[in-house]
Amino acid sequence: MIRLKRLLRRVGLEFGCLLALASVASGQTPVSGQTPATLPPWTPGTLDIHHLATGQGNATFFVLPDGTTLLLDAGAASPPGVRPIAPPRPDTSRRGGEWIARYVTRMTPTGREPELAYALLTHFHADHMGFISAQSPPSAHGDYQLAGITDVAESVPIRRIIDRGWPDYDYPEPLDNPSLANYRRFLEARQRTDGLAVERFAAGRSDQIRLVLDPAAYPSFEIRNLHANGDVWTGTGDAVDRIVPPLETVAKEDWPRENHSSLAFLLRYGPFSYYTGGDLQGVPPDGYPAWHDQETPIARAIGGPVDVAVTGHHGSIEPANAFFLATLRPRVHIVPAWSKTHPAPVVLKRLLNTRIYPEPRDIFVLEFHDETKATIGSRAEQVASDHGHVVVRVAPGGESYRVFVLDNRTESQGVLSTHGPYPSARSGPEN
Ligand SMILES: [Zn+2]
Repeated sequence: MIRLKRLLRRVGLEFGCLLALASVASGQTPVSGQTPATLPPWTPGTLDIHHLATGQGNATFFVLPDGTTLLLDAGAASPPGVRPIAPPRPDTSRRGGEWIARYVTRMTPTGREPELAYALLTHFHADHMGFISAQSPPSAHGDYQLAGITDVAESVPIRRIIDRGWPDYDYPEPLDNPSLANYRRFLEARQRTDGLAVERFAAGRSDQIRLVLDPAAYPSFEIRNLHANGDVWTGTGDAVDRIVPPLETVAKEDWPRENHSSLAFLLRYGPFSYYTGGDLQGVPPDGYPAWHDQETPIARAIGGPVDVAVTGHHGSIEPANAFFLATLRPRVHIVPAWSKTHPAPVVLKRLLNTRIYPEPRDIFVLEFHDETKATIGSRAEQVASDHGHVVVRVAPGGESYRVFVLDNRTESQGVLSTHGPYPSARSGPEN
């Protein structure tokens, strides 16, 4: 009975709710209440996590329980004037970073000026930070051009930036490309003119990203830094293990790639927990060293279920290994797909595989192209949503959460569907 009750809690059911039971039996998420036309405004105590579907890469906007704002990545993979790899959303009339800034502005808590207390870059690829080309317009604030994160900063003030490279940008070797050089000029200019703070993300810490407005009111909120640059949290204190061997002992062609150096963190709010980890991987391609799997040591450190997990590397081929999934057992998967190669058929198959873990799960894909679906077949029909911004709204205290899918074809952002409420995995004494 306890097992059944636990299962029902994870499915989002109360005892005796036969209608909901019937919907679970048919494989659909129970939906409670009416679907509102638009997302109700954020209120204090609520945690909102907006996964933006711009068709240009990752961008996740967090409004933390005390109103602290955080942007994780600002992808803008297609430079202006170049045929986009995938259709930008809502359309091509603006650059990817502009769409992100406008979204952040609209979703800023009522009565406050838009600003980001934190901006984090998981790693230095265009679909996470923006791509600079000759057509990228100049900034009005310094000697740099606008794309991705610099475009966001042009209209939304950023107080603190945390990345994996500051201050030397030299791991695993000096990083040098036009987009990164532009980003460094941006940091230097904004430090000088606006007092921008810049830090290097430190794996293991739980005090680098904190509530800045009213932390005392939400003592159960925490962001634990899990991984960056081959350092992974051990699960104990702030200690980290090194998963990359000394580079002088590794053949150059096996050195960690940019994706492998991504930041990852675990957010907790009361019983609620959320994992995100850039473009880390868990299934190294054949022939590569086993330590190219970052997910396994991360899963060991986390050591148990999370409610919501963002699939690594947009769901492309190498993320979401079976050990990682069997340990985290996410109730909700968010696949930040944008290109037509995302998600890979084999990854979607693993996410859906109930032999890896038997509990139900809902999979939200930010942009699931028709061509991609056609190559996957019927499994593609098993996702909870196939396009739109995915907003995880966690109730005050973290006991439960809902998912809202918002239209990404226009800025009106009508609600396409709502899912849940889901009880958080660690809620209730039997858990
Ligand atoms: Zn990426």
